[in-house]
This record gives sequence, structure tokens and C-alpha cells, in this order.
Amino acid sequence: MNNKSYEQFTFEDVMSYIGDTVDAVIVIDGDADKYRALAKRGLFADYINDEGSYKNLIKRLWFHLNNSEETVIEDYQVFIPTFGKFVGKYSKRINIIRDDITHVVQMTIYPLNKDNLYIFILDELDSSQYVDETLTNKKVHTIQNTYLFSMYVDIVRDTTNSISITEISDDVMNQQLKYSEWRMMIVNMIWPDDQPVFLERTDPEYLKKNLAPGRTASFDCLMMNLEGKYIWVKLIFSRAETSNEDDFRFVFMVQDIHENAQELMSTLKKYEELASKDPLTSLFNHGRIETEMCNAIENRKKNNQEISMMILDIDFFKRVNDEFGHSVGDVTLVHFADTVSAFVKDYTAVAGRWGGEEFVVVFYGTDHDESIRIAEALKEKISEETFSKIGHITCSIGVTSVTDSDDFNSTFDRMDKALYAAKSAGRNCVRSVL
Ligand code: GH3
Ligand code: MG
Ligand code: MG
Repeated sequence: MNNKSYEQFTFEDVMSYIGDTVDAVIVIDGDADKYRALAKRGLFADYINDEGSYKNLIKRLWFHLNNSEETVIEDYQVFIPTFGKFVGKYSKRINIIRDDITHVVQMTIYPLNKDNLYIFILDELDSSQYVDETLTNKKVHTIQNTYLFSMYVDIVRDTTNSISITEISDDVMNQQLKYSEWRMMIVNMIWPDDQPVFLERTDPEYLKKNLAPGRTASFDCLMMNLEGKYIWVKLIFSRAETSNEDDFRFVFMVQDIHENAQELMSTLKKYEELASKDPLTSLFNHGRIETEMCNAIENRKKNNQEISMMILDIDFFKRVNDEFGHSVGDVTLVHFADTVSAFVKDYTAVAGRWGGEEFVVVFYGTDHDESIRIAEALKEKISEETFSKIGHITCSIGVTSVTDSDDFNSTFDRMDKALYAAKSAGRNCVRSVL
């Protein structure tokens, strides 16, 4: 059958292939709590009887092979139709640990008919298919142990007592260690950039000054875990309630906040992108492209990098709106923006919408002569482009390059003057002012 060509495969071929491939195919009578194995192989060859109690089979899969009774959740009952009114298909992956090897098994149940009969399929997935799954499980495991370690510190006596140790270190830390020694040991596990803040915040004098009795303080930093990877952790100090100023005991805790921190950072990044984007054209918006211009001007001063900028203004754009309507105008603006952004992709350049039908492009490492050539080519490209509904449009471009004595205003003024000159010269042309 495997020699058949693409066209030759029939539904029956595929079904029989699946029947030969999955590890166990079982029929279930939900009301009578019976199962009968139609096929069983691989992991399940000796594990599943020819017939038996279905409920027991499910329990066995969950309790015995999975090696963890804690995974019993609502999901498990879904596989026992007699437990609830279960209709529809359902699938779940579970980890089965046998002889210390983890097998990932896909359990799927399909209703056969109204008489509470079902097909139950068990299939061990190839290792390549469950790498992600394993990683996910590992992460879940890590989240459950978010408190990586904690210890009891007495600053006055300069002592520490380990409360529990999990991920960060499996050193035998329950032997008493001086707090001062512990700090100097742990600082090596902190990301170098975060070491100064770690040393400041864990300094006994700092803590004495800033941590009132009963109060809790914390800060976040990157710390190396057992696998040698830096993860985001929260270091928490909670001082014992006391009326004695000279009693300075606190609980110190390290919490794994890596997942959350990463999620937060990617959310922040998304927000930053949203805040930087012009919603119509998806180019950088006015504020963002203005920042880009300022950064580029700074770059010129610091690194002596050649910086050129241009402003593009669509010619007679008002007529597009007047003749074809505002929404055609919008579509034209998007098309125009896409054309500009595709064109400048070949350069180290950043494009943005200055406002209305005006666009700004900042070029890095581009001198004045080259920027004029680029502007001419871009102007040509625009005039050749066919815009839906309206046909052809043109634009005028003002170009300038940044000098050492420039700031934002002086640069922008020249670029704007150049644009004005291009408009005055009859439009569809490039002008530059240096
Ligand atoms: P010029 O060649 O001198 O640049 O002529 P122009 O008509 O392009 O210039 P003007 O500044 O008079 O008009 C720009 C027009 O752009 C006015 C406004 O209706 C239109 N416009 C600005 N923003 C948008 C927008 O977001 N969508 C649409 N459809 N039109 C816009
Ligand atoms: Mg304009
Ligand atoms: Mg215009």
C-alpha cells in the first residue's frame, strides 16, 4: 500500500493504515463499563487486556502509568462517559512513565452511537512530536515551584538558615552560612549588569535603613539557575515583626518570575509597537518617526555616521478625495506607504507617516548625493505605480543631510524648505537643501 501514488490512495487505504499505525483501538460500552481491544501493540501490547472494565483501564492509565495521582482532574472523568453526560469527541495527551522513560500518549474518544458506545484510541507519539509537550510540562513544573529557595537571615548575628532549596542550587545550604559570605557567593550567580543593584539591596546597612519591622521589599533581577541559564527572579525580603531595633531577622525568598516576566516584556513590546504605529498605513507614526529623526541626528554626532532624510508629499492629493471619496483616498495612502516602505527596504532606512499625505524617511549611512539619487528613483517608482481606482499620482520630495551642528529643528526646516522648493518648481520632482 505504501507504494501507491498520491492519486491512488483511497479512504479505505488510509483507514487501514491508521488502524495499523495507532497503538490501540478499543470499543467501549459506556453503560456496561466494558471495553474490548480490537488492536493493541507497542506500549499497550501487554498493558491492555482483550476485554475488561473500561473505568479501571482509565484509572490505571491515569494513576499507575502516569506516576502522579495529582494529575487527576476533571479531564480524567471526561474519558468515562458514565460519569457524566459525555457527548462529542475528546482528545488529551498524557505522559506515561514506564521504566523511567516518559511516553507521550494521545488518548482520543469518539462516540459511536446513542447507546453510549465509543471508540477509544491510544497512540504513543514519536519523540519529535512531543518535544514541545515535554518542554511545556517542564515549564508547568517550574511554575509550581516558583519559590526557588528561601532562608532565614539574622543580620545582627550574621547568620542564615536555609528553609528550602529547589531549583537554583542543590548545594547543601542548610549548614549555617554567614549572611555576609552568602551574599558574596550568590552575587556570582546574578547577571553582571544586575550585580550592583543586588549588592546594594542585600547590603546589611541598606536593609537596616530601609526595611522596617513587618515590612516586605523586593526587586527583580536575572539569576543563573541549575542549568546555567539566566532566569528572571524576584528577590523578596520580609522582616520579622519586632519592637527591638537591634533585632533584625528577615525571611529571604527567591521567586521564579521568568514566565511572567517574559510575558510582560512581550506585552510591553507589543504596546510599544502599537503606540509607535500609524493605524492606517502601519508605518511609524508622527511621534515615533520624530524620535527616529532625533536619534539619527544624535548618531551623526556620536558616531559620525552619514544621515540623510527626506519628506514626501503627495501632489494634489486633495483632488483624490474630492473626486473619488475619502475611502479611496485612504486606500491610496496605504498603497503609497507600502510602495515607499518596500522601496527603502534595500537601505538602512526607517519610514514613517508625518501626517496626512506626508511621509518622512530617515537614511542611515547615506550621504547627500546618494540620498538625492534615491529620492529621484523613489519619485520615479511612485509615478510608475498604478493605484487602484485612481491610476497614477505623483509626489514631491524634499531632501537634506544632517551636519555636525544640526538639531531637530534646523534639520527639519531645511527638509521642509526643500519640499516647498519642489512644490514651487511644479511638483513631481526632488529638491534638496544643505
Ligand atoms: P499639494 O500638491 O500642494 O501637496 O496638494 P495637496 O492637495 O496634496 O495638498 P493639501 O495639503 O492641500 O491637501 C492634502 C489633503 O490630504 C487634504 C486632506 O483631505 C487629505 N488627507 C489628509 N489626511 C488624510 C487621510 O488620512 N485620508 C484621506 N483620505 N485624506 C487625507
Ligand atoms: Mg501636504
Ligand atoms: Mg500634498
